[in-house]
Amino acid sequence: MRHAFVTLVTNADYAMGATALVRSILRVGTTADIVVLHTGAVAPDVLAPLAALGCRLIPVEHLPLSDAFNDRHARGNLHGAAPFTKGRKPDFHSPLDNFCKLRLWQLTDYETCVFIDADAVVLKPIDKLFGYPEFSAAPNVYESLADFHRLNSGVFVARPSLATYQAMLEALDAPDRFWRRTDQSFLESFFPDWHGLPVFMNMLQYVWFNLPELWDWDSIAILHFQYEKPWEKNHPKADRLKPLIGLWQALHDGRDIDWPSLPLPPAKP
Ligand code: UDP
Ligand code: MN
Repeated sequence: MRHAFVTLVTNADYAMGATALVRSILRVGTTADIVVLHTGAVAPDVLAPLAALGCRLIPVEHLPLSDAFNDRHARGNLHGAAPFTKGRKPDFHSPLDNFCKLRLWQLTDYETCVFIDADAVVLKPIDKLFGYPEFSAAPNVYESLADFHRLNSGVFVARPSLATYQAMLEALDAPDRFWRRTDQSFLESFFPDWHGLPVFMNMLQYVWFNLPELWDWDSIAILHFQYEKPWEKNHPKADRLKPLIGLWQALHDGRDIDWPSLPLPPAKP
């Protein structure tokens, strides 16, 4: 029975994110493998820290998708057709790269995989996630109750299967299909009966200032920096997210964390 945490890295920025993620997993401990899927655009010296941490590095290609599909989902076209209004994506984020997550279903030497975005960190042991069914994900909650019916694809539980992978490719690149939130929209559509994980398995950083009553340091198992990234210099929300960015930095650098000194989010006016 083999289990793996899986993340994806297509450039040096996300390799830095993955380094923090992997250190955070090792800090709390796991019996599972840690797999980094990486595209050819990532230089060996950028991947070296991940190899040194004991990750299994697996090179992947982009998915075999039609030119029309790639064109519709290219950064400029996607941002034009489905603008982001709640936050901003860093320049180093390429929407098409997100779809490489689906390569996870090809990892058939594992019975169960837990995918975690490279911009997330693990705060508590989470090996119990390997006992959850396919397809499990947490709700995309960061603003209001209305978000509870949508999933966030930054953390999910899946069972690799080549049959599933093939079925996904066909559904993904059906004529004229446009996935406005890329893999997230696709997975929600492909698994309409998805199972809900507790919201603490994928706590989104905007909860800190939008839904402070939901914040509970003792319960948060995975903290996910959706939109702006904690390693971006002076991003527009850096001031408001300062304690979370400090925590990410400490995990990235492998420094000790003084948990009792972590503040609570400011109450809403
Ligand atoms: N990713 C990547 N390169 C990219 C875009 C995405 O490696 O150019 C990977 C990385 O693991 C990242 C995940 O896909 O964490 C999803 O993108 P991101 O986390 O930026 O999206 P968000 O959580 O902000 O919606
Ligand atoms: Mn993310």
